Amino acid sequence: MNDPKVFEILERHGLSTTKSLGQNFLKSGAVLEKIATAALPAERIIEIGAGIGSLTALLCQGAKEVITIEIDRKLEPLLKEQVPFPNHQFLWQDVLKTDLAALGRGTIVGNLPYYITTEILSLLLENISCWDCAVLMVQKEVAERLLCAPGSKDYRAASVWVQGLCEGELLFEVPPHCFHPAPHVHSAVIRLRPKADRPDPKGFIAFVQAAFAARRKMFASSAAVQQLLKCDKSTLSALLEQAGLPQNSRAEAFSPREFLRLYKLAQIKNG
Ligand code: SAM
Repeated sequence: MNDPKVFEILERHGLSTTKSLGQNFLKSGAVLEKIATAALPAERIIEIGAGIGSLTALLCQGAKEVITIEIDRKLEPLLKEQVPFPNHQFLWQDVLKTDLAALGRGTIVGNLPYYITTEILSLLLENISCWDCAVLMVQKEVAERLLCAPGSKDYRAASVWVQGLCEGELLFEVPPHCFHPAPHVHSAVIRLRPKADRPDPKGFIAFVQAAFAARRKMFASSAAVQQLLKCDKSTLSALLEQAGLPQNSRAEAFSPREFLRLYKLAQIKNG
């Protein structure tokens, strides 16, 4: 694909980018192709954020059906021109207010607006049964945080959410000069595939969040976990023993697999 002439296309429509909406549009044909290749083939694609429609157009050529959620209606005339495909539909709304289940199961693709990365990730993980694969451009630091191992200073609740519920991989990095305008940060594209044997996402997310509320405290003494599971320290000690984990463990030391084991045991205990 040739590099899209982002500035010229915007200018022709009397438009400029809106910083507060995270509008850094890809201007590298090579990067756009790599993202599309990572997501295709797919029956149905649900794209988050259209920009000037460069990625949308590529996706429309490889998928049966593409639905794009875009909040910025001033892009509509430009996008009608750039995305003239019969297998495509725009939803002019906030992705965070979108009922993903109503759209049908698909592959999620998005060069995400970075100001709401965490909120979008939470939405996707809570609705994990609505998608089979997600190809997402995020800030490079965020990608590293989500996919890092326990023991790293970057390891946090979101790392466990993602790695507990999905198989995740960092596909490639994207430098600032590939965007118009160039952001101040480096980016990376990640691909997530939901694990077949995953727990219920909302319960697991809440459990991990509670455990990380006092990440450096001993897990068995965690008031937040005790409150969530409506139990006391001795119950958490029993959970640790059953899971084969040391009594003095801290939440930040558990691997995603160990969190899954603990959560499963906690659910059995709670009936
Ligand atoms: N996909 C395009 C590309 O790669 O060039 C655009 C990516 S740009 C980083 C993010 C896009 O998400 C923008 O078009 C922006 O208007 C849109 N956006 C921002 N906030 C949104 C929201 N809450 N819901 C839906 N779209 C949003």
